[in-house]
Amino acid sequence: MAVAIRTAREIEKIRAAGQVVGRVLHKLREIAAAGVTTADLADLSDRIIAEAGGTALFKGVRNPAARFDFPASICASINEEVVHGIPSGRRMLTDGDILSIDCGVKLNGYCGDAAITLPIGRVDPEVERLLRITRQLLDIAVRESRPGRYWSEIAGRMQEHAEQAGFGVVRDYVGHGIGRQMHEDPKLPNFVSRELLGNDLLLRKGMVLAVEPMVNLGTWKVKVSGDGWTVLTADGLPSAHEEHTIAVTDDGTEILTAGPDGAE
Ligand code: MG
Ligand code: MG
Repeated sequence: MAVAIRTAREIEKIRAAGQVVGRVLHKLREIAAAGVTTADLADLSDRIIAEAGGTALFKGVRNPAARFDFPASICASINEEVVHGIPSGRRMLTDGDILSIDCGVKLNGYCGDAAITLPIGRVDPEVERLLRITRQLLDIAVRESRPGRYWSEIAGRMQEHAEQAGFGVVRDYVGHGIGRQMHEDPKLPNFVSRELLGNDLLLRKGMVLAVEPMVNLGTWKVKVSGDGWTVLTADGLPSAHEEHTIAVTDDGTEILTAGPDGAE
């Protein structure tokens, strides 16, 4: 497993791509509300990425399990949809929904990738707790990652935090290295497995990682819907997803996909 070590100049370019992602998510957070369709959100995302001179990384992604390439610049996954939901003009947000938006942008040859999960109107307190805990898993990774630490230590803390709250950590989808390509080595599970312990990652300055906990209210098990893309919880309960692209620095991390005001 060869994990790239990025120069300050390369990290600057990943940050530039990441800032476009941050701008998209910031804007979509502002307009996502009951009555808005997920196609409306995708259209705005298209415009922001085009104005920035970037390319939408998700559009045109191949999937042998689906009859069509991914058609949009964002994934929009509602409630029991875990990831890879397809934006649609027929899919209108409703009060009480939760919406995960995932966005990836390439700019000047480098990539950024981030995701947020939003409550639409007033959501069930248990679902609110799911959103809070999922966000805390990402915070743990941002705060605890630093040179000299093993990824399994970070993943263990994330998994423990979710499971203590009674939630399931998705196993089938994980975080990843990122740089010139959206998906690079290593794989970054949000749980500890024998596979991870046998092939652990020692964090080093200059690594750039897309960290993305996916947490289910019930079972961690998932299935793929009939469209070949949308991943659903096996028990139909809601799921949340939070992601940032981060760089490992001298003594911690830097978030490279922050919003326009530096908001995370
Ligand atoms: Mg993503
Ligand atoms: Mg990702």
